[in-house]
Amino acid sequence: AKEEGRNRFMFFDHSIQESINKRLQIETDLRLAIVRDEFELHYQPKYNTDYKLVGYEGLIRWPHPAKGLISPAEFIPVCEETNLILPIGYWVIDVACQRLLMWQQDSTKQHLTIAINISNIQFKQKDFVEQFKIRTRGYESIIHKLEFELTESLLMKDIQDSIEKMQQLNKLGIRFALDDFGTGYSSLSYLKNLPLSALKIDQSFVRDMLIDSNDAAIVKTVIALAKTLNLQVIAEGVENNKQATMLKHLGCDLFQGYYFGRPSLIDDTKDE
Ligand code: C2E
Ligand code: CA
Ligand code: CA
Ligand code: CA
Repeated sequence: AKEEGRNRFMFFDHSIQESINKRLQIETDLRLAIVRDEFELHYQPKYNTDYKLVGYEGLIRWPHPAKGLISPAEFIPVCEETNLILPIGYWVIDVACQRLLMWQQDSTKQHLTIAINISNIQFKQKDFVEQFKIRTRGYESIIHKLEFELTESLLMKDIQDSIEKMQQLNKLGIRFALDDFGTGYSSLSYLKNLPLSALKIDQSFVRDMLIDSNDAAIVKTVIALAKTLNLQVIAEGVENNKQATMLKHLGCDLFQGYYFGRPSLIDDTKDE
């Protein structure tokens, strides 16, 4: 029995060791990727009800030299556990600002906005607002075109702190959208206390809204709620014309999804 126990222990130990190694490898690769400037910011278009382009959401991509394109769902959690999300998050802010500054010179593009996803870990840093100010010096003229997409779970963690940071950033010109709305457990009452300008209906509700009456009801309710609170509503994950038509009919303001365009690099790219 003693022998067996030891074997089991060794087996257990081995598999832990394996996942630690794998993890360390990703972490090492990520550190290298930062130094080598390997990340790309891809842009997914957002359209209004006239089907005119209003802006983009920036989505990070990691083209790994050996493993190919790695999805953010895979590496963002590692970045968050290792605090590498801080340099990466500031990189995203910088790239988006550079792009907006470039567009400012182009009369066909100067109205466009860019939304970026801000990680919980980054937003909750004590000095985030201060750091943001320092790192966006020189971008003051375009900062009102930058939007932050935040999640419910993030904002609920010390809501007073969230409100204060949002108000400070709001003064600089940043607008906020609440991402993945409907997937959290939070009460609705806090919504009116946050300086938000938009709600993003989570793609899981949009996906099945034509076949699942519960999802359709949620979409309807979120749109109605947004109207009541004077917020814009953005539907994400719009994949076909039927969804777009129904969303438009329900009063949705902006659309994002494969039907309108996939995330991709933009032609006038010089910074990747
Ligand atoms: P998210 O913010 O909810 O982004 C929407 C995700 O849905 C993106 O996945 C996008 O490519 C995908 N998507 C867009 N339209 C459609 C559609 O019509 N159908 C389907 N099935 N999917 C669609 P992606 O790019 O893999 O990003 C996954 C998540 O990773 C994002 O979810 C966001 O939470 C996070 N993320 C991405 N970029 C960044 C970043 O720069 N910083 C941080 N902190 N997180 C990021
Ligand atoms: Ca988002
Ligand atoms: Ca989302
Ligand atoms: Ca999401």
